[in-house]
Amino acid sequence: MGKQIGGEYTILRPAVTGNSFKLVSLDAAGGADVTRRALFGLDQHALTEQMVGLGEPGWRGRQLAQALYRQRVTELAQVTTLPLGLRSKLEGEGWAVDRPRIAQVFQSVDGTERYLVEGQAGDGRTVETVWMPEGDGGDAGSEDEDDARNWDRATICVSSQVGCAVNCQFCLTAKLGFERNLTPGEIAGQVVTVLDRHGVEVGRDRVNLVFMGMGEPFLNYDNWMGAVRLLVDEVGLSPRRMTVSTSGIVPGIERLAQEPPELRPKLAISLNAPNDEIRAEVMPINRKWPIDAVVDAVRGIRLRTRERVTFEYVLLGGVTDGAAHARELTRLVRRTGLPAKVNLIAWNPGPGIAYETPETGAVERFRQALAAEGVPVYLRRPRGRDIYAACGQLKRTVEG
Ligand code: SAH
Ligand code: SF4
Repeated sequence: MGKQIGGEYTILRPAVTGNSFKLVSLDAAGGADVTRRALFGLDQHALTEQMVGLGEPGWRGRQLAQALYRQRVTELAQVTTLPLGLRSKLEGEGWAVDRPRIAQVFQSVDGTERYLVEGQAGDGRTVETVWMPEGDGGDAGSEDEDDARNWDRATICVSSQVGCAVNCQFCLTAKLGFERNLTPGEIAGQVVTVLDRHGVEVGRDRVNLVFMGMGEPFLNYDNWMGAVRLLVDEVGLSPRRMTVSTSGIVPGIERLAQEPPELRPKLAISLNAPNDEIRAEVMPINRKWPIDAVVDAVRGIRLRTRERVTFEYVLLGGVTDGAAHARELTRLVRRTGLPAKVNLIAWNPGPGIAYETPETGAVERFRQALAAEGVPVYLRRPRGRDIYAACGQLKRTVEG
């Protein structure tokens, strides 16, 4: 069904969903025509306010929230719980569902699917979202778009910004530069769109979310947390199954520590180096917030029972993957005194980045060195290698 492009990845089809707006202006000021307004992204409270403003009973807001986030409608016409007259009235006032839509699908042989998702701003900008199924033949992959549930759990990797301003030297998203923040609706919309595509039943199916796509979530904190609130309160997902990854933005970590436990996702820190000297080289942000400052901020989080902090560690050949680095990392993790685990990721190469992948055996030696010292360590399996799995890689490969 899919078409092989250059023998590397499969483009299934540029997906089309009905409503594509040329321009969505959220600001009514001075508009000649009716302003297009997005319902998707508003929580139950805001929807209720809108309904009351239209002279409707407040509980219509709840019905609308149910339709948007539980039934996952994409058109107002599908909201059959609302009377036809009210739907027309909403349309007349410029309201539309306007959920982010999948613009392109790339399917890997291992079952991973990567999407370019177009947001609500009408600027045509896309971000990457990834679906990673596990178990039950999920590894075998499927060319069947309905995928007949050949997975028993899955992880969705979600973006928080178009591009990124942080400038980590090994990262492809950094090469894009920072383009713009995503709205809460655009962040939560990636998840709802993918849940919809795979027929996921929230509450029954095991789905994990990782905010590890494009962008730095803590440099778009309010919108990111707004999305988390939508995903928890309206979509019904648990924050215990969500992990947010940061390059170490200390004020963001401090804000996360203030979130109530029923809303707060778990935390992963992109450590990527065993000391400040190397870290400052590969992640210049370390000059602003060095390792100790990051760790101090993490200590402010009141962890839930059995919760651990993840340290992500990208292995750069010859730069961070040596035996001495492993020893230093072990000491560093111990010194934090935090319940922690280390996630090792072999660097995924990309055009224009002058690092090297670790030599054969280096990743396993590194893992063993940590494990031998009792540090909980996991190897992040490369997923979707054939469709450019690294952060920001797909967009850069497709859009040049
Ligand atoms: N901005 C956030 C979240 C997105 S990056 C952060 O930096 O944590 C998600 C993870 O991908 C980070 O741990 C980052 O170190 C890692 N990463 C980025 N580019 C990579 C590459 N080319 N290969 C492997 N991992 C990479
Ligand atoms: Fe941004 Fe994360 Fe990439 Fe660094 S690793 S440039 S913070 S997306």
